Amino acid sequence: MQTGNPSEYTLLEPFTIESAGNNTEFIGAHAFSGHETHLLLSSKLGSSILLDKEFFSQISEKQPDEELQFKLIQRGFMKVPDSRPCKTDETILPKFFIIDLTQACNFRCTYCFRHLEEKARTITWETLNAIIDYIAWYCKTTNQREIHIQPWGGEPLIAWDKIKHIQDKLRDNDVKAIITIESNAALITPQLAREAYKRDIRLGVSIDGLPETHNLQRKLANGNPSFNKMMQGMKNLRDAGYGNRHGIITVLTRNTLPLLEEMLEYFAVELNIDRFKLNLVKDSPVMKDKGLCLSDDEIIDYQKRLLKKLVELNQRGYPIIELNVLDKLQNILTRNKSNICISRGCMGGKKMLAFDMDGRIYPCDITDYKEEAIGDVFDGGNLIDLLQIAHKEKDFFAPKNSDNCETCPWWFFCKGGCTTAIKYKYGEAKGVDKLECISNRAMYPELVNLVLNQPEMVKVLTKNKIEIQ
Ligand code: SF4
Ligand code: SF4
Repeated sequence: MQTGNPSEYTLLEPFTIESAGNNTEFIGAHAFSGHETHLLLSSKLGSSILLDKEFFSQISEKQPDEELQFKLIQRGFMKVPDSRPCKTDETILPKFFIIDLTQACNFRCTYCFRHLEEKARTITWETLNAIIDYIAWYCKTTNQREIHIQPWGGEPLIAWDKIKHIQDKLRDNDVKAIITIESNAALITPQLAREAYKRDIRLGVSIDGLPETHNLQRKLANGNPSFNKMMQGMKNLRDAGYGNRHGIITVLTRNTLPLLEEMLEYFAVELNIDRFKLNLVKDSPVMKDKGLCLSDDEIIDYQKRLLKKLVELNQRGYPIIELNVLDKLQNILTRNKSNICISRGCMGGKKMLAFDMDGRIYPCDITDYKEEAIGDVFDGGNLIDLLQIAHKEKDFFAPKNSDNCETCPWWFFCKGGCTTAIKYKYGEAKGVDKLECISNRAMYPELVNLVLNQPEMVKVLTKNKIEIQ
């Protein structure tokens, strides 16, 4: 048994407590140990429980008292005859729809995978209306009144009229569409910002850190720096009522990794941002500059530095959180599916769908691979039926794993990672998403360490959602 180092864990084997006709079964768990507290995690169910020394020694000795048995049954670690099994499968019921509106973009970012030198297309009104009608019909038949739509690009705001049209037309069909847009912000005028705010549209601005790193990675189409234009768009959002509650999305590359701490300092102190999403640049065959991708060691280093800096900023009174960290922390403590994309493995084709500019339907934004389309809005067909067939037949839904997954503590939340990332990198949806795998195996142990040894930080880093007593 290792203590004080949660990257080490003990496997607690299953056992049965026999009593007259009423056997109670412990299903096994990964156990992580801090100085005073222990965390049990089920990689099959995603459930967890914190135990003190006394309870932990009871379970290690396979002799849990009644109080502990009750707690373990509640969290799914113990089963009694006729008890309802903990639900692990996701029903197929998409609620999040990506619509590819335009390939056009007013920026030329270094890591972009769009072929922007080719003639850029924007979706036609006819196809867009067919997609909206199809979604509205699906909502009606599945009795859904509220869904999420993410207009996709290129720069989605190039098709602003079409974004508004999606929301209006769905509203006319009694469906509330919560629209989320990730934008480079250069087209956010004061008027657009006011309209977006009035419509309750969630807008995230892409900022790649400091002005100099942003200008290095995110240039305008004419080659000029884009930072000032982005800042003006962000200011327009803030003035329109968003304050600092708009989203922030940052792509980290090997060029910007050395400045990670300065970037976070800038977000928290200068920009007064309280939450942001930091994505690592993803490798794909069309990426021109392979040197931008982080090595395995750099990914591990990044995860540790990220958490350390977040803790430091919060301790200094800057309440800032990175959303992937927040999702992972909630995963291990509450199993609450905080991230619709990957809290329980890939949700593509279960909770998420994408439509391309020709009306084809995909399990996620994997529109470069036409063979992954599961149907077409012009052909129609019941969406749930199409998905059920696709789950049996399509490459996209094949299980993803490596030899390490079987015993991996993080399996429930990861399940091999992002299918689209695997497909883009290897051309087929097999194996695991290496970037996600390395990230998980680096970040989750750090978070377990935090939970066990700095539990007061959990409340801060989850924005008061979770408190460890
Ligand atoms: S891909 Fe990696 S992190 Fe994910 S379950 Fe498998 S071994 Fe664990
Ligand atoms: S393919 Fe990737 S992005 Fe799409 S739902 Fe799955 S994990 Fe999320």
